[in-house]
Parts: sequence; C-alpha cells; structure tokens
Amino acid sequence: MMRPLDPDALSSEEARVGLCLHCHEARQLVNPRGNAFYQCRRGQNDPRFRDYPGLPVRECSGFVRREPTSGRPGAN
Ligand code: SF4
Repeated sequence: MMRPLDPDALSSEEARVGLCLHCHEARQLVNPRGNAFYQCRRGQNDPRFRDYPGLPVRECSGFVRREPTSGRPGAN
C-alpha cells in the first residue's frame, strides 16, 4: 500500500531538486544508500545539458512538465 505524499517532504524535495523533479526528461536514480539523484536524458545527446545537473535546477530551457499520472521521474 502506498503512503500518501507528505506535503512537507514533497516541498523539501522540490526545494532540493527544483525543476528536474517534475521534468519529463529526468530519470531518478537511487544509489545503494538510498540517496536519490537525477539524470537528464537531454544530456546524452545535447551538449547544452549536463548528464547530472547540479541541483537545484531553477531555470532550464529543456524543461518539459511530466504528466501527473506518469509517476516518479524516469518511471515511464
Ligand atoms: S531538461 Fe532541465 S529540468 Fe529537465 S531533467 Fe534536464 S536539466 Fe532537469
């Protein structure tokens, strides 16, 4: 059973990650310690973007809002 989102935790994650949290081009990766970080798919083909952007990302010309139903970044 999924737990409901904790609004405080979400805003904390939004503050830490910025735009990548809601971007269709982001892929969320979790290391063995349980720390989440974000890979930018655009970075693989476009030199204007870094594979692993410095967080938080506050402005980005490549941002594409992920559909709300598609789950966590990179899950689709
Ligand atoms: S395009 Fe920008 S906002 Fe989207 S994942 Fe890459 S760096 Fe983050």
